Amino acid sequence: MPHLDPNSIRADFPILDQEINGRPLVYLDNAATSQTPRQVMEASRDYYSRINANIHRAAHKLAREATLAHEAARSTVSRHMNSRHEHEIIFTSGTTDAINLVSNTLSLSGKIGRGDTVVISGLEHHSNIVPWQMLCERTGATLKVIPVLDDGSVDMEAYADMLDDSVRLVAVNHVSNALGTINPIEEIIAAAKAHEALVLIDGAQAMPHLNVDVQQLGCDFYAFSGHKIYGPTGIGVLFGKEEILDTLPPWRGGGEMIKEVTFEHTTYNDLPFKYEAGTPDIEGAIAMAAAIDYMNALGMENIAAHENTLQERATAALQDIDGIRIYGTTPNKASVISFSIGSHHHYDLGMLMDQMGVALRTGHHCCQPLMARFGITGTARASFAAYNTEEEVDLFIEAVKKASMMLG
Ligand code: PMP
Repeated sequence: MPHLDPNSIRADFPILDQEINGRPLVYLDNAATSQTPRQVMEASRDYYSRINANIHRAAHKLAREATLAHEAARSTVSRHMNSRHEHEIIFTSGTTDAINLVSNTLSLSGKIGRGDTVVISGLEHHSNIVPWQMLCERTGATLKVIPVLDDGSVDMEAYADMLDDSVRLVAVNHVSNALGTINPIEEIIAAAKAHEALVLIDGAQAMPHLNVDVQQLGCDFYAFSGHKIYGPTGIGVLFGKEEILDTLPPWRGGGEMIKEVTFEHTTYNDLPFKYEAGTPDIEGAIAMAAAIDYMNALGMENIAAHENTLQERATAALQDIDGIRIYGTTPNKASVISFSIGSHHHYDLGMLMDQMGVALRTGHHCCQPLMARFGITGTARASFAAYNTEEEVDLFIEAVKKASMMLG
């Protein structure tokens, strides 16, 4: 029986307790960045008040403690996504950085070249499009895109037709940030594996809502960002299978990623340090681990069940408003509603909603090709988190009705 009381959760999020333009803040921009609970802030404060020091290679106590806390954060991530080894967890600055790590090292590796194919989907965020375009430009490989159906799901038949032995990599998101579609990644991965292609999953939007088990999924890479899971900005994760990462070259050179340096020759460190050049975001990793602990204390199933209730309530009420069009009508969705009113510009709608205290995201959501697929330049997007309430959904709906009247 799902149990999550958003009103008690809200006490952990001081930022939510404020007025915007004289109205209570209704924060529905969680797919862009979710808010941070006290427990995460406390982890950052504790780090800076007790143990701040650069990690590795120091004789002193603070450095040892900082190193232990940083590596404990890696264990937390590893347990949370069930990676086989802790050293398969690479700290990055976010999802974008993680995908660029994979695309750059694959380009350098020579594993992808002319005649090879990289497959992405039409639902992708720019950060899971542009790095692959860059890889294709550098290597001569061809980029193919799985089309998106009218309901916002990927065309699995077209995907099956696209797969042949030239496909070296399939890179798709787990959940679409623009429409909320949950992709059937188990099927996508299994089909890719039948052709021995590598698979990267962009999990930026899945990690806040779903249980992710990378061993069960069988993907080679899985990327996500701290700031979408109630953690800080500037930190994220690349999970990569040991047997693949061990065959890829290093990317950024510098401190930490080496074993031995002479002017003639450098040998590289083992995983995960091979991919963590320079001083990492130590506090960010620790705070992100605190955010993972926070989500697990609430229970991922409870979070998902609560958000689904909000999503269903909001979708049903929106559908009753004249002129509303919802993009992404597949029932397999997580915590995102993308919509428009008549032919009104999404930005005007967003501004009016802001005047009523409701924070939405408007625009192309870093998915310009997807917007073009639907013949639009953007949408208004409401996205939910564990701390949102049914009362907030009702305030959101009231505000949409008023905005709709004002826009005429
Ligand atoms: N992929 C998806 C699906 C996203 O929603 C986002 C963030 N909007 C990203 C990638 C990029 O994440 P970041 O900006 O944290 O690197």
